[in-house]
Amino acid sequence: MKFQSTRGASPELGFVDAMITGLAPDGGLYFPVEWPQLPPVGELATDYAELAHQVMWPFVEGEVDSDAFQAMVAESYRAFAADDVVPLVDLGADGQVLELFWGPTLAFKDVALQLVGRLFDHVLSARGERVTIVVATSGDTGSAAIEAARGRSAIDIVVLHPADRVSDVQRRQMTTVDEPNVHNVAVEGTFDDCQDLVKAMFADEAFRQKVNLSAMNSINWARVMPQVVYYAAAVQRLTEAGLATASEPVNFSVPTGNFGNVLAGYIAKRMGLPVGRFVVASNRNDILTRFLDSGVLATEEVFPTHSPSMDIQVSSNLERLLFDAHERSGAAVASLQQRFRGEGRVEVDGSVIDRIRSEFVGWRVDDNETVEVIRSVHESTGVVLDPHTAVGIGAVRGLRDELTGPVVTLGTAHPAKFPDVVETAVGSRPALPEHLADLFERPEIMTRHPNDLAGLQQLVIDRTTSD
Ligand SMILES: *Cc1c(COP(=O)(O)O)cnc(C)c1O
Repeated sequence: MKFQSTRGASPELGFVDAMITGLAPDGGLYFPVEWPQLPPVGELATDYAELAHQVMWPFVEGEVDSDAFQAMVAESYRAFAADDVVPLVDLGADGQVLELFWGPTLAFKDVALQLVGRLFDHVLSARGERVTIVVATSGDTGSAAIEAARGRSAIDIVVLHPADRVSDVQRRQMTTVDEPNVHNVAVEGTFDDCQDLVKAMFADEAFRQKVNLSAMNSINWARVMPQVVYYAAAVQRLTEAGLATASEPVNFSVPTGNFGNVLAGYIAKRMGLPVGRFVVASNRNDILTRFLDSGVLATEEVFPTHSPSMDIQVSSNLERLLFDAHERSGAAVASLQQRFRGEGRVEVDGSVIDRIRSEFVGWRVDDNETVEVIRSVHESTGVVLDPHTAVGIGAVRGLRDELTGPVVTLGTAHPAKFPDVVETAVGSRPALPEHLADLFERPEIMTRHPNDLAGLQQLVIDRTTSD
């Protein structure tokens, strides 16, 4: 399989080069040149690791050894604390929740990053290369990337988080990892400052070369691909249980930030998976809901909410959907993005937004409703939701009349990651799972640093090029 840039001005690459390159040189995102087709639902594997191999193999075939790939997939999902990796939980009138948070860091990002870390290490070791991954995080991405990279000999990972602005659980999940290839930096600034620092490091060609900079964020195709699998798993299980049919296919509600997770569902559908519609659930930061309602993509200021991993105004993976909806015109996407960057606002053609609306519907859920969803679901079912998943359920409630057929909400985080909001809703703090039970007793290792690009670049050089 070859991968093309969504801006149309970079050469096509194979899977491994697209993964290591991350962002295409023309600023675009890599996208498979065609859609491999899944077998009929009845022929999808029921074992998660087998299904993962079945769904992903067409994208990596010819680039990664088959046995090695199978072993990496199996190992990645053995690290999950649930028997069927991503359990489906019935919430009665609110539909089902697909719990994606039983990986090492308790957020769905582990599903992709556990495999991506192994893939990076495998292909880099084979090439005798080493990379430095720099990640900016507002909370969940940092710990998932650290767990993916820790102890891997071909990778150094540097994570920038905004000092004093992530939760204690989130910070400790990063800073208590004691490995020589893991480097935590608390930047004296905001998450946006951290993101700007990372962007500036990527834009500095000499620096980029010196430390062999690479990215594991959700603009990387390899991050999106493993997320396609659990959509297939949900459809397979609900079909087998007689709860989904060809005429009443499954709808998915996805708590959305960067649009990576819901985009993976769209890809599953393009690969032939029977799916109804996708609910793009947002918190108060509702750029996507406004876009789906109006066809105008316009940024606003970012407000902090109870679901911080969705506090985002520029959803980078939307570019992949726009590319497909413009019949893969890189020129059209490049021009849209240029206007969006220049003016903070751009309108897409009527035919394009109509096409998008036939598959996606947006809904916004505010903090009060989020708490109310956690409270009422706990009261009626005993299940404790995290605030992100609660936004997804809130959107299902809001759109009940518009959705026919079963609805699955993606459960994106374990409630113990957000104990304060959960306590407000249900009156008690959820316990951390066993492997993290002593999190607050472990020593923390991090470097505090001013928001200063040159100083941080020197820190990265010192930490990663000493040998
Ligand atoms: C990252 C994250 C999201 C947003 O996912 P995207 O793929 O960026 O849309 C939602 N919930 C949680 C808990 C997350 O960590």
